[in-house]
Amino acid sequence: MRSNTIQTLISDLEREDIEPLTDDALAEDVIELRRTMDRMEYQCSRRLDLFARRHGYITLGFVSLIAWLRRACRLLPGAAVQHAEVARNLPSLPDTSAALAAGDIGFHHAAVIAHSVTEVGAEAVLRHESTLLEAAHNLDPKYLTHVTSQIRYCEDPDGTLADANDNHERRYLHLSQTWQGMFVIDGRLDAEGGATLRAALNALEEMWYPGDERTGRQRRADALVELARQRLDAGTLPEVGGQKPHLSVTAPIATLMKEPGAPAGELDWSQPITADTVRRVACDCAMTRVLLGPNSEPIDVGRCTRTIQPALRRALVVRDRQCRFPGCDRPPDWCDGHHLIHWIDGGETSLANTCLLCRRHHRFVHELGWQLSWGDAGTIIATKPWWMKPAAIGPCGVAPPLAS
Ligand SMILES: [Zn+2]
Ligand SMILES: [Zn+2]
Repeated sequence: MRSNTIQTLISDLEREDIEPLTDDALAEDVIELRRTMDRMEYQCSRRLDLFARRHGYITLGFVSLIAWLRRACRLLPGAAVQHAEVARNLPSLPDTSAALAAGDIGFHHAAVIAHSVTEVGAEAVLRHESTLLEAAHNLDPKYLTHVTSQIRYCEDPDGTLADANDNHERRYLHLSQTWQGMFVIDGRLDAEGGATLRAALNALEEMWYPGDERTGRQRRADALVELARQRLDAGTLPEVGGQKPHLSVTAPIATLMKEPGAPAGELDWSQPITADTVRRVACDCAMTRVLLGPNSEPIDVGRCTRTIQPALRRALVVRDRQCRFPGCDRPPDWCDGHHLIHWIDGGETSLANTCLLCRRHHRFVHELGWQLSWGDAGTIIATKPWWMKPAAIGPCGVAPPLAS
């Protein structure tokens, strides 16, 4: 009879034509159904508790309740552990049980509170149960864990410290390169390390602006590279092999001149890089000319010189004050010096032929084919590559006039 009632409810739901429903009505339905499922979860949990205490799963040939839940109830391992924990701990929390039975709190709220029982014991959670239930009415389950963490800290400071130390020991970072040359990062940081990194990345993430088609993940990736780049540029890192750490690019002149058939450039630790990337790097770098003999042996090594001398760089910072790409306001620390006509093509390394461009917009020009040219009164005109849709990417137009 009972299962018939449930079947009747499901049949009614199946027969209902939902297309004419308004968004408000759909939202109400979803909330109501979720609430019903939460109430059902309690009924399920009540039965599971009795089933576990009677060791019903052993009678059915399973070695543990978790194994039975995974197989018979089709749960992932984490979900099976969670359901078992809720079933085990809810009976010691009458108010939480009643709230879940009535659908006043969600199953995942109950799961957070039940996990707290495992951490600090039923007695301690009972003392804080009214606070937890009030919090559950106002917070989603993830934020409710902040409240249970506080309770854990108050009730069991030694255990909290041991957990924090354990988390710290589990930190790691893998940085590996795929055969395509991409780098893959995988890691785990403790709470403090992660928050430190996030704070630094937040500071370096550019604000979104209309036309910026990067996803949040791409902006975060750019911020991480910028963090490393600025640290390298500052020259404050310890020396490695007698030199300040830096990126090293090797390329023949023919590659820089984009001659047909010229070989690719080479980047430290990485795959070959295109001539356009070599030209971008060469726009503003420290360069050493190496003359090779007939058997590719170095026969002469010149002095290391900067393509944009420090004095010119200072003048660019005073004049431009920020990236000169239209619409961009990245400060000088984020910028390379860019030759409007590349020095390898005969362009002068002078104020009249250079400007500041942030790393992203420097890439726009060299690798994506944007053209920069001087307009009236020191403005810079950016022209999109022919293949780009009009509204495809970023701001286009004329940069503000130069500072006088
Ligand atoms: Zn450049
Ligand atoms: Zn820029």
